[in-house]
Amino acid sequence: MWTIHFPPGSGKSCLQYWVEGTDCGSVPASFCLVSVLALDSDGEIDTLQVENATLLGGTADTCPAPLAPRAVGVLAVRPNIFSSGRTSVVTVTGRGLDENTWVQFRDHAGQVLPSEIGFATTDTLRAVFAVPEAAAGRVSMQLTRTDGSSESIDSIGTVVAPEFYVTVLIDGAPAAPDNDQGTNAGGPLCPTPLHAPSVFRTLPSVIRPDSGCNMTQVIRSNTITYIVHRSYDDAVMTNCYATIAVSAWAASGGHCHHDSSRPYGSPDTASGNTGADGQQFRVTHTWPQVSGYLLVQLQPDAECIQRWGYSENLWIPIRGPDAQSSTAGLLNMEDGFGYTVTGGDDNVSRHPDNHYGTPELVATLQNMAYLWGGPVLGRPNFGYNDLSLMWGGVFDVEQVGVAVCRRPPNWVSPCHCGHRKGTQVDFKITQFINLDQRRRANLLVKKYFDVYTGESVAHWHLTLKKAIP
Ligand SMILES: [Zn+2]
Ligand SMILES: [Zn+2]
Repeated sequence: MWTIHFPPGSGKSCLQYWVEGTDCGSVPASFCLVSVLALDSDGEIDTLQVENATLLGGTADTCPAPLAPRAVGVLAVRPNIFSSGRTSVVTVTGRGLDENTWVQFRDHAGQVLPSEIGFATTDTLRAVFAVPEAAAGRVSMQLTRTDGSSESIDSIGTVVAPEFYVTVLIDGAPAAPDNDQGTNAGGPLCPTPLHAPSVFRTLPSVIRPDSGCNMTQVIRSNTITYIVHRSYDDAVMTNCYATIAVSAWAASGGHCHHDSSRPYGSPDTASGNTGADGQQFRVTHTWPQVSGYLLVQLQPDAECIQRWGYSENLWIPIRGPDAQSSTAGLLNMEDGFGYTVTGGDDNVSRHPDNHYGTPELVATLQNMAYLWGGPVLGRPNFGYNDLSLMWGGVFDVEQVGVAVCRRPPNWVSPCHCGHRKGTQVDFKITQFINLDQRRRANLLVKKYFDVYTGESVAHWHLTLKKAIP
């Protein structure tokens, strides 16, 4: 752009330049207007077309015809970031950009980037070019017209790797990435690879059980702020309209089974703008009662993709719910002195990793078996089954043929009214040889647990009330 400042009140149809010689001899000078160049406010030199200039004084009789202005001229090129291996749409604005113009792009190594072009007006050229995987660094552009005129620009932008990453705020606070849980989302016996460089834990929506298995539903929500960063310069993607879609990751969280009805909370989709600081895209999620991984697929709109060189969906794993809190870990209990971890058909296929408890529960069960002294006193081992799944949450055990399991088994909890927080266990009672042995076991168990007998004829459902340290 260039401007001319006229004095107040002056006419704006005429621009006069006075030229005087320093030595006024007797012969009138001849002046020829060959070309007009203007230094514009961008520091560029523009060539102006000479049309109706009048020479006042002197004579123009012997002047050559004015030079034609350069046939093409570039004012702006957008965008200026290109992603390797992706297709870019470049808009060039300037003059002389008609069907007689061809455009080529080159990277810094001189590699020609193939292009196809279209013309919106003679001021705008739209070029589509596929940026090779190997392209890198600065991109230059050359415009050529069929009359042989051309314009080259050394650097219209830069090729970068199309890599982005996401950080999140949970209720406005930075979320610590959970880097150590990303490779086995299913459990030791249900390996489910999930290649997640970082995931974020959330609090669960839980049914909070009491010893009698009456349960109170607690719905958990968090507001997640999605912040997208470009990897090569860590720039935050601002003023971008984006959409998310939420889904559940199959066979994660200890549920070694899957169907399309697996819950993932709400909403299933949401959209918004990242705003001027890149931190305004916020979604309030309500988390499901089923633990495991949720995946958030983040997709910016086309304008944003162009502006930021963004190229593909981002997948954001969210681990949750966690049984107790965002940091509590449940321990996997294995066979030990005086007790055996047991299981049924369901534990073979659908929930093979089913003996997770809080450190307090696991220690108490181990110590109680020690006090029982089965191997020493000739008593049968205690049998412990179905504590909780690896991260707690709904334990949708399926017990074929058990009368109380009348509801559909997937993702609801018909047979285990609790077993969600790592504080409950099913205590096998069928191995005791007589009622006196069962009574003695009951006296020991009642010291540390609330005992609920209504869940099954084969076991007592225990809730920890007093831990043995
Ligand atoms: Zn399940
Ligand atoms: Zn139970």
